[in-house]
Parts: sequence; structure tokens; C-alpha cells
Amino acid sequence: MKVHQIIFEKIKELLKRYFDMKKQLLFTFLLAIQTILFSQELKIEKAQPPFWWVGMENQKLQLMLYGNEVSLSSPEINYPGVELKEIIRVENPNYLFLDLEISKEAKPGIMNIVIRIGNRLIPPFQYELKERVADSTLHQGFDQSDVVYLLMPDRFSNGDTTNDNQPDMLEKADRDNPNGRHGGDIAGIKTHLGYIRDLGATTIWINPLVENNNPEYSYHGYAITDFYKIDPRFGSNADYSNLVKSAHENGLKVIMDMVFNHASVFNWLVRDLPESNWIHQFPDYTQSNFRASTITDPHASEYDRNRMLEGWFDKHMADLDQRSELLDNFLVQNSIWWIEASGIDGVRIDTQPYSYKELMTGWSNRIFKEYPNLSVVGETWLQKESITAYFQKDAHNADEYNSGIPYVTDFPMNSAINKAFNEKDGWTEGLARLYYVLAQDFLYDNAENTFVFADNHDLTRFYTSIDKDFRKWKMGMAFLMTTRGVPMLYYGTEILMTGYEHEGHGFIRKDFPGGWPGDEMDAFTSAGRTMEQNEAFDYLQRLLQWRKNTPVVYEGKLKQFVPEDEVYVYFRYDEDECVMVILNNSDNQIKALETGRFKECLDGYNYAVNVETGENINYLDVLTLPPKSVVILELKK
Ligand code: CA
Repeated sequence: MKVHQIIFEKIKELLKRYFDMKKQLLFTFLLAIQTILFSQELKIEKAQPPFWWVGMENQKLQLMLYGNEVSLSSPEINYPGVELKEIIRVENPNYLFLDLEISKEAKPGIMNIVIRIGNRLIPPFQYELKERVADSTLHQGFDQSDVVYLLMPDRFSNGDTTNDNQPDMLEKADRDNPNGRHGGDIAGIKTHLGYIRDLGATTIWINPLVENNNPEYSYHGYAITDFYKIDPRFGSNADYSNLVKSAHENGLKVIMDMVFNHASVFNWLVRDLPESNWIHQFPDYTQSNFRASTITDPHASEYDRNRMLEGWFDKHMADLDQRSELLDNFLVQNSIWWIEASGIDGVRIDTQPYSYKELMTGWSNRIFKEYPNLSVVGETWLQKESITAYFQKDAHNADEYNSGIPYVTDFPMNSAINKAFNEKDGWTEGLARLYYVLAQDFLYDNAENTFVFADNHDLTRFYTSIDKDFRKWKMGMAFLMTTRGVPMLYYGTEILMTGYEHEGHGFIRKDFPGGWPGDEMDAFTSAGRTMEQNEAFDYLQRLLQWRKNTPVVYEGKLKQFVPEDEVYVYFRYDEDECVMVILNNSDNQIKALETGRFKECLDGYNYAVNVETGENINYLDVLTLPPKSVVILELKK
């Protein structure tokens, strides 16, 4: 028993013995004494955001304080330029929200928050207001000139084996378990920034690095337990900021993966909810129907739409209800905090359509007000082009909904890429799939603001889906790098990594060979790669370097011709330059392609350079195409 508890029990005993009072009076008196004694224990365990800055566009800050019965207190702030506008108490007495206004006059420094309970003061809580770093290399944003490299941090490289296991973290490293933690970390990524740069990617998107302190299956990062902390098995918050800095020094931009739809059931906020309305709650476990079509469907039932928005993504992930103003603010400020603290260039929003769409608009408005040059891509895992386009900024929507989020992920194109080279060409099959996806680009406000990809961390790896046919792989890669949009590569695609999604996600997220001390192979070096892997790496590297130096291929217009006789031809062009891409999908036929029908693009050009081989092609009237091949030609006058 603690000392103050013993004193309390003694007083209670004495009071019972000596006072002859009415029961109610006695109770009130006891409560007052209890408050005085127990308030000595009041400690602010967490303040989130953990610090803030002076000179933000938005002068408001909503500071959340967490501590045992902190709501009994009445904080005061006396700091020049900072005004405490409102103290918000919620259902749970362990939380207090302070609405602050930080004026332009406020200077950086340590702000004392005086915490008072009745007449008792507890030691002031110190809160830091930092100075913003003015640096033009921060928050650069990405665009079509970039090639994004997506990597899963637990599976890319283990640069520091001493952080694999942490006393406070529930799940320990187990590399033999496909669904376990393997030990990859920020140090590993940092070591291999040069590898990514040399491949020719310009931007890295890392699956979430924030704390996922869950007992199992915690490696993927999407079941967050603390929104403000990098998982110690990956490194520290400072390590993350340093990674962004090193990436910038290597000419690479960084996209941070943010999750607004759900949080782990082990998240401290979920375990001790500020208000019951922060998550969607049901008597029995209720899963989302994963039908984002209900968001755009004018005929959708409320039942289905609610099920989509309110149902949980997974048993271990509580579905957040962003309609709670406090939660909404918490999430927006969390995003701003990471952007400001780390200097990242872009944000990827996980499961965008699963959050309340109006609140995502509010989120984007506030983010872009603060960081106009930042780029944001939403994960729009949707089957149709029309629904995907709906979630892009300035979409031409009948209901006038505007997400404000500029980039979407082109899943219809992903599906087409994974089918096109496996199928026999038909009216809508084979290469026609690629053609028809692009033919619907009128749906987008800006079809260039789409992420195009052959696979990602949730999908069967591309090399597996094309039956490990290297010819198809080249067709896929060449298409990605020359069609419209921002191409995205999933780590290991460049070395032909394989894996079926239906065998379990662990199989599409295998460790990058060479990322762990003692690995048999080191695919980070050409000496450590197989001949076939080197062929793939070198092809992609050449393609990426060429793309980087050929702006017409990402800035130019796109013109496509209806696929005919298993051959699909399109051009990227402007007034001065033109690139011709030809895909022959025939499994065994060499094609002699007569180019007469492409006259409108070829006129004025006399010869071409084959980008892959460097050869000059002087006769353009008939082009010879091997089976299952792609030819990229730079047309010359
Ligand atoms: Ca490690």
C-alpha cells in the first residue's frame, strides 16, 4: 500500500469514528480529501503532438494531454504569443484537449503548462515550440518525372541486428515465420539508398514505420499502436528524419505511408478511448464489405454504404470514426507533425475510400494550405476507372465531391497489365485491356496523376503472375515506364522476385536477398545476382536512366492506336520529339509491322534509335518484331 493510501485509510477511519454527520456530507468531504491526495499522483504521461512549431500557416493547435484523471485539472499557459482558447473535457477523465492559438509573434521555446487542481499546483508540464526549418529541399513533391520504389521495411534489409528485439515490444523477431518480424529496419534502408538511386528510381515509398506493438503479424505496419512514434524495431524518430535527409542527399524523395481508416486494437488510444465515438463499435465483430462502389453508387443502400465505412478492415484493426471532430483533428495534426518534423516529400494515404470522404477533403485542404508543394497519392483499390477517378482532385463528379487529393492509384491498369500479356488477343482481351483502360482517361481530371504499377505489397508478384516469362516482364516494365502516370516498382521486381498472394502475404513480402548479414546471395550487387537477375536489373536500369533523360516520355502527349493482329502501338510526343512504343503479344510469331496507319505520328521522322539496343533503324515503313516483345523507338528527324 502506498503512503498516501495509508494516510487516506487512516483519515477515513478517524472520520468515521469522530464525526457524526449525515452520510451525504461525509461522502462529499471524503471525495474532496481524495482529490487532494490523489492529485499528487497526476502526471502527464503523454502530450500529443509531442511538440509543435511557431510560424505555421494555421495558428491553431489542439494539444491532447493524457494522464490519470487529468480532466480534474485546469491548465494555464502564460507564454508570450500563445493563448489558451478552450479546455475541452471528454467522456474519459484521462484526457484533456487544449485549444491553443499560436500567433505570429510567438517565439520558439519551452512553454510551461501550469496544471492546477483546486488550489493545488503540480509541477508545470513543459511543451516545446520549435522553429520551422526553412529548406527548399524539403517537401519537394513527386510527379510523372519520378519513378517510385515501394519497399516493406521489415523485409528489405536488416542494417542493425541489435534492434530486432525490444523489451517493450510484444512480437520478437522470427525470420522463419513468413508472417513474423524479420528484423529489417531504417538502418538497412539507409545503407541501400545508393542501390535504389543507381537502379534509377527517384522516390521511395516505405510501408508504415510507426509503432505496431501487436503480439503477432505486426511487421507490415498498418496496425498502428502509436501514431507519433517510429517502431523501435525500425529505429527512432530521429533515425527516420535522418533517413529522409540521407535520401535527399542521394537525390531521392520520400513518401510516407499514413493510415486514417483504422488503428490497432492494441493502440493506447483504442484501449483507453477518449470518447466512445472515436471508433465504430458493434455488438459482434462486423467487417467492412470492402465495396467502395457504395460510395459512388447513386442507388446504394444505406446498409451497404454504412457497412463499407463503419465495418472493420480486420479483427485486429479498430475502425476509426473520423466524424469525431477531436479524432479528425488528431489525425490531421499527426500528418502535419510528421511532414514538418521529417521533411518528407509526399504522402500515401492507405485505404482512402474507407474513410469519410468529406473528412479526407478537409484533411487535404489543411495539408496543402501548409505544404503547397507536397504530393499526395491515395490508395484507391477499386475495380473501375470511373470509381477511381471519383476520388481524384477536381474530378468531374455529378455530386460535386472533390477529394482534393491529386494522385490516385490505377488498379484497373494494374489488373490490365497482369492479364494483357498472358491472354490471347481478342476484342477486349490481351493488349486491348491496356488500350481500353487508357481510352477511359476522359474520366480523370488529370490522367497523368495516376500511379501505375505491376504489383505491390498486397498483390501477387508480377513475375509470378506472368509465369516467370522474362519476355512478358520486359513488356510490362517497358509499358509502365512509357505509358501515362507515375510508375511505381515494388522492391524485388528488378531482380524477378516471385510470390503468390493467395499463399499468404508473407510470400509476396519475402526478404530481399542480401539484406541480412550472412545471406547466401547478395542481390544488391551485380556479383551477387544470377545472370537472369542481372539481365532484368540492367534492362530496368537502362530504361529508367533513359526515361529520366527523355522528358517527352512522361511530359509528352500520349496517342494510341487500336491493337491489331496482336500488336499495340502508341506514341509519346510533343512538337519536337516523339517516342514510339510497340508491343507484340504473339507467343510465337515474328511480326512484320507495316507502319502506314501511324502516318500521323511518323510524318517528318526519317529514322529511329532502338532504346534498348542503341541501334539505328533507317527504314521505318516495315518494322520487324520478335514474338512477345517490346520495342521502344526514339524517332529522329
Ligand atoms: Ca533490425
